[in-house]
Amino acid sequence: MSERKLRVLPSVDETLKAEPALAAIERHGRAPTLQAVRRALDEARSKLREGDEAPVAAEDIAGRAAALLEAESASTVRAVFNLTGTVIHTNLGRAILAEAAIEAATRAMREAIALEFDLETGKRGERDALIRDLLRELTGAEDATVVNNNAAAVLITLNTLAKGREAIVSRGELIEIGGAFRMPDIMARAGAKLREVGTTNRTHPKDYVEALGPRAGLVLKVHTSNYLVQGFVAEVKAAQLASIAHDAQVPLVNDLGSGTLIDLRRFGLAHEPTVAEAVADGADLVTFSGDKLLGSAQAGFIVGRKELVARINRNPLKRALRVDKIRLAAIEATLRLYRDPDRLAERLPTIRLLARERDDIRRSAETLLSVVASAVGAAFTVDVVDCVSQIGSGALPLASLPSAGLAIRPSEKRGAGRALSALSERLRGLAVPVVGRIENDALVLDLRCLENEDAFRTDLAALSGNDNAR
Ligand SMILES: *Cc1c(COP(=O)(O)O)cnc(C)c1O
Repeated sequence: MSERKLRVLPSVDETLKAEPALAAIERHGRAPTLQAVRRALDEARSKLREGDEAPVAAEDIAGRAAALLEAESASTVRAVFNLTGTVIHTNLGRAILAEAAIEAATRAMREAIALEFDLETGKRGERDALIRDLLRELTGAEDATVVNNNAAAVLITLNTLAKGREAIVSRGELIEIGGAFRMPDIMARAGAKLREVGTTNRTHPKDYVEALGPRAGLVLKVHTSNYLVQGFVAEVKAAQLASIAHDAQVPLVNDLGSGTLIDLRRFGLAHEPTVAEAVADGADLVTFSGDKLLGSAQAGFIVGRKELVARINRNPLKRALRVDKIRLAAIEATLRLYRDPDRLAERLPTIRLLARERDDIRRSAETLLSVVASAVGAAFTVDVVDCVSQIGSGALPLASLPSAGLAIRPSEKRGAGRALSALSERLRGLAVPVVGRIENDALVLDLRCLENEDAFRTDLAALSGNDNAR
């Protein structure tokens, strides 16, 4: 019986002639529409075989095909409202760039730019020259270079200075950060032999001194950016470690991780070692990220002694790890903002968001309370709450930023967990997905990173709409 029923389905050709298919061809092109029509027909065929209802008119099948195409044509790179309370969220793309950086990147995309071209001599130039002087000015280092990210900066530094030699590092600093970046693995790939000194909680000057033999390539200090060892601890500070390394005529590399160009205490935050401090403390090279606290595009910077930077630039890996013109343009524009620290909090989103005060955020929460309450409906209660944001990306792991937001709780205790995950899912399904965090049986929307309240209101309006439609 079902086979006979299948014959009522239109042919591919017939479906393609229906109005929605013609419109879809105009919008998406012939080949994708043909594919979608085949899929819509397959779908209807399976339903009929199962004995279910299915659309059989060419018009309806074509409409279904158009809907499939429409769903696929939405970009997979989706903007989201980051209400997780983690400002530099690696899974949400880390730093949001400054307007100046966005303009510079856009120009670099649209036009030919003098990337490796010296406009004075008309000869070939170096792409790093675009940002070298700014980095020198902002860090006090002799020279600077840039690669794909900080993991790459560490890799190429180890490979250049310690290939076939020992890289000496404290056991307390053998970090793993997210995404399979483990210091021992990076060392192995760089061809350096890991020489661990000290213990997990205590490393002393003599531990380094004893390890500094003829096979030493470098001493590495790693900023333990995503954890803190507390209690009975001892580490050798960078300045002292520099003199120990230099006595043995071995360079000291300081991997700062996040690294900041400015003293964050200016913005009411805890002190994070600045790159300039690390340079002044005697590190021969300092490595740090472009898209963590610095607030720019993904990149890894290496600043320090001229002769060592020159060796890194001659390493063939440099070519494999280089940064493209779009990011270089964004980085240059971002670094320029640091020349005027007074206006940095205004212009650089990362700093602006980190510096936002609880009172200001709470006001935003109070304004939005009724909007969110009516969007989530009577099955939930919504309250303004104080909460705590994090910097994220391993910077100042223990620093907590007083923040505020909205806590959404199911009105019914029974099935509360399921209700909360269903609500989280609906919020993620909005035109601009809203990402919060679950905490103490509530979905908390930390409003620190919400700057466009109007867009948020508009977005949420669809939530109550959805609900009614169900
Ligand atoms: C984040 C971090 C890295 C890696 O930097 P990416 O820019 O993510 O590649 C390396 N070392 C430390 C100490 C870090 O915190």
